[in-house]
Amino acid sequence: EPAIDTAFMRRWLDTAATAIDRESKQLSDLDSPIGDGDHGTNMRRGFLAARTAIEQEPPDTPGGVLVALGRQLISKVGGASGPLYGTLFRRAGKELGDDRAVSAAQLRDGLRAGVDAVAKLGGAVPGDKTMLDALLPALDALTGALDAGGSAADALAAAAGAADEGVRATVPLRARKGRASYLGERSVGHQDPGATSSALLINTLADTAKE
Ligand code: ADP
Ligand code: MG
Ligand code: MG
Repeated sequence: EPAIDTAFMRRWLDTAATAIDRESKQLSDLDSPIGDGDHGTNMRRGFLAARTAIEQEPPDTPGGVLVALGRQLISKVGGASGPLYGTLFRRAGKELGDDRAVSAAQLRDGLRAGVDAVAKLGGAVPGDKTMLDALLPALDALTGALDAGGSAADALAAAAGAADEGVRATVPLRARKGRASYLGERSVGHQDPGATSSALLINTLADTAKE
């Protein structure tokens, strides 16, 4: 069971940036029929910029890595997803404070604070066909597994499974927030790109905890 320290968070960011880079075309393709086709390029720009910024000026706490990621996403990514994901990671990182290593429960509390801030900023609720439809079930699964005494790795694996399930459940939904909502009924039948990138990020977190 690896410690959730600065090195862990940097390994996660490396893995996440690589996964976002690899899946960039798929994320933009999902955004084409119900948006403007840029979700993959937006996420790729932000995560690669964050990886570079963190290599150049390495933070010395896991919270610091998340705050630096959030800042890069806010400054480098336009559109809806930059401020929303930027807020998620900045808020989560602040919640972790100055600790050099955090417990799985602290990480969960940080993510919850970040996801709450996304909900507040974007005004979306569950079922609106947004990133929250992956993030909220993931948080619930993480909490459930930790409360049941599961290890960090097992709890994050449960969170990843719940996020994937949440992504599939966005397909029949009608979008009520963001660009996809302009399509009304025509947004039905498409997988939400932001929920898809959220699930990818949680899957890479689970992979990092397995190592
Ligand atoms: P844009 O729509 O500005 O081009 P992106 O394509 O990068 O930005 O991101 C689109 C994704 O952002 C959507 O798939 C959705 O998951 C998410 N999103 C949009 N609006 C909101 C919101 N108000 N709350 C939460 N997530 C949102
Ligand atoms: Mg878009
Ligand atoms: Mg856009």
